[in-house]
Amino acid sequence: MTQLTFLAVHAHPDDEASSTGGLYRLLADQGVRTVLVTCTNGECGDAEDGAKPDADHHDGDAVAAIRRVELARAVELLGISRHDMLGYRDSGMKGWPQNDDPESFWQADLDEAGRRLADIIMTERPQVLMTYNEIGFYGHPDHIQANRITLRALDFLDYEPTLYYNAVPNSVMAGMRARWEEEDRLRREADEAKGIVRAPEPESDEEPLDMGTPDELISATIDISSVNGVKFEALAAHASQIADSFWMKMGKEQFMATMTREWFLRQTNPLGLEGNVEDIFAGYR
Ligand SMILES: [Zn+2]
Repeated sequence: MTQLTFLAVHAHPDDEASSTGGLYRLLADQGVRTVLVTCTNGECGDAEDGAKPDADHHDGDAVAAIRRVELARAVELLGISRHDMLGYRDSGMKGWPQNDDPESFWQADLDEAGRRLADIIMTERPQVLMTYNEIGFYGHPDHIQANRITLRALDFLDYEPTLYYNAVPNSVMAGMRARWEEEDRLRREADEAKGIVRAPEPESDEEPLDMGTPDELISATIDISSVNGVKFEALAAHASQIADSFWMKMGKEQFMATMTREWFLRQTNPLGLEGNVEDIFAGYR
């Protein structure tokens, strides 16, 4: 029987856990070989004291060193068979000065980065690939770039894998948005009670990004309820970045009760699959 192999191209340490943590663990338990390519080192993450990259004492290399250790722990928890780092510097959010760093992922030459990725893909020959859509799911330059190098890598292959983008159905996105707004409201109220007045968020003249996908377009819905406790642990392994995230605030019990699915959108379809599959290797087993 052919070895089934899955490969995901992720932008930063922690992305493997947030959008594919359940899928990775599930596939590992099924004996599928799993590969993770992490494009950047995550220099623009929070420092140990929570400092953001614009703080004077924020040391990107120190942040990356901590994140490397956290990532190794997550990789172990998720049973990932092979992990490669492409080693680009984190480009930060759109418009940050880090976007212009010649060593940033945003400045990477697409042919060169695409070839490096293609070399890994050609060695592993995964039937199924995963990355983000062309807006990087939420607009982060490194996520957009992960999409671009993956598409470029496809041009260099001598076979056509099935490529999926991660996705969140609109119906689920609406619930998440309500939760974020509620958190925002509680934070504002707590601030007001303490007499803190925050400047309103600057108005943006850009169209808000559409992060959701119409439910009927979702083409893979993976039930991760049997492994989402491990997904929670893998997220928690990235403690320096997400101790404060809404997942961690949920707590493991509520996370396990609610975060039971991961969703994907098929982008290449060499097997001519139709509809919403429940197995990312549909057609290959
Ligand atoms: Zn990321």
